[in-house]
Amino acid sequence: MAKAACIITKPSLPTSIFLSYNAPFMKLYWEAFLRLIYPATCGVCNALLTLTETGLCQPCQDRVFHLRFAPDDALLSNRFQSLDEGWTLYPYQPPVQDILTGIKFAGKRWLIRVFHEDIAMLTQALASENHYDAIIPVPMARRRFLEREFNQSELIAQRIGQKTNVPVETDLLFKKHHTPSQGLLSQKERRINLQHAFEVRKKDAVKDRSFLLVDDIFTTGATAEEAARTLKTAGAKRVHLFALARTERDSRN
Ligand SMILES: [Zn+2]
Repeated sequence: MAKAACIITKPSLPTSIFLSYNAPFMKLYWEAFLRLIYPATCGVCNALLTLTETGLCQPCQDRVFHLRFAPDDALLSNRFQSLDEGWTLYPYQPPVQDILTGIKFAGKRWLIRVFHEDIAMLTQALASENHYDAIIPVPMARRRFLEREFNQSELIAQRIGQKTNVPVETDLLFKKHHTPSQGLLSQKERRINLQHAFEVRKKDAVKDRSFLLVDDIFTTGATAEEAARTLKTAGAKRVHLFALARTERDSRN
């Protein structure tokens, strides 16, 4: 405590602050200071956060935890032709839905951290049972990328890469053109909308390799299936999918 008192009573002496540096104390002190200037609020309910909470308040964090699928429910539909298998973590419901919307449209990119632990747990298990040569985030068309400045699937893919030591490769699969929003289309219309939307530019880098494709939201699977079809056409051996959340409508049968 003597050292702490020294910091508080003699703030104008940089050497004494440096000499009495106490990492945990300073971290708390600094965070408290930052929170005074920028009150940190929960990314979902806007409640003020305590010093030990980051991103979400504890009740909202608990709601995310309780939404997580059990292992059997995490499996996505197996009615695909090109996607070999797929897994997901959460139903696309509040608060997961609010968080993903905040990341995409309100610039709250840092909120992806809320899912970090769950992403690591599931994908480390996947990577221990399957060999992946690379992780590929489902690409966005350049126009949308420029509007948003980041690809949320890439944020998820980076986390998986860190935890599994599988490289994230963003130069294998490209989205050729902007496709109209899929939201109001039927499954058949979605397929037509997406036909030939993706391309592989370096076939040699795809041939005979196994990939984990990563997307943020799985709805009908039309996007992931078309991306997988493009990879398989270029010679990919196997394509699995990890989608962070799935809408309940029409996603399993
Ligand atoms: Zn909250």
